[in-house]
Amino acid sequence: MTVTVSIDDPDAMARLGATIAAELQAGDVVLLSGELGAGKTTLTRGLGAALGVRGTVTSPTFVLARTHQRDGAPPLVHVDAYRLSGADELDDLDLDLAHSIVVIEWGAGLIEHLVDEWLAVTIDRPTGARADLDPDGALIEPRTVTITGIGPRWRNLGWLHAARD
Ligand code: ADP
Ligand code: MG
Repeated sequence: MTVTVSIDDPDAMARLGATIAAELQAGDVVLLSGELGAGKTTLTRGLGAALGVRGTVTSPTFVLARTHQRDGAPPLVHVDAYRLSGADELDDLDLDLAHSIVVIEWGAGLIEHLVDEWLAVTIDRPTGARADLDPDGALIEPRTVTITGIGPRWRNLGWLHAARD
C-alpha cells in the first residue's frame, strides 16, 4: 500500500514523524529517501521526540549511527548511510535490528537484504512550488511524501489518515 501526503512546512514534517512513531515497535525499520535537505532528519526529529528518546535527534553527519535510549522501551537507532560505500559497511555496524527501532537515511539499496519488511518514506520537492520564508529567513517549501509499506506488517497504512488532512 502507498499513501502520498503533502507536507507544507518543517513542523508538519515533524508531526508526520510523530504519526509514524506511534506505530513503531522493536524490529521496525523506516527507510528515508530524498535529496539532501529534503527533510529526512526533520522527520526523524519529530519521530524521536514522539518516542520520548533521550537527547535531540540531529543530523548524524559525523557518525554513521546514533542510538537514542528510551526508558523501558526499545532504543531508536538513527543511521545516516550517506557515507557508506555499500551494504557491507552497513552490515559492519551490527545493528541490533530485532531489539531497536531503526530509522535510516540514504539506506535504500543497502538494508533490504537484512530485513523482510520496512516502511519506505520518500520525500520529494515538487518543482515550481511556492516558497515562503520563516521568521529567521529560512526557506519553507511544501514536500510531497510517499509512504510505502513493504511486507505484511505494513500492509495497512490506514493510520496515516491523521497525516493526510
Ligand atoms: P535531510 O535530512 O533530508 O538532508 P533536513 O531535515 O536536515 O534534510 O533539512 C531539511 C531543511 O528544509 C530544514 O532546514 C527545514 O527547515 C527545511 N524545510 C523547508 N520546508 C520544509 C518542509 N516542508 N518539510 C521539511 N523541511 C522543510
Ligand atoms: Mg539528514
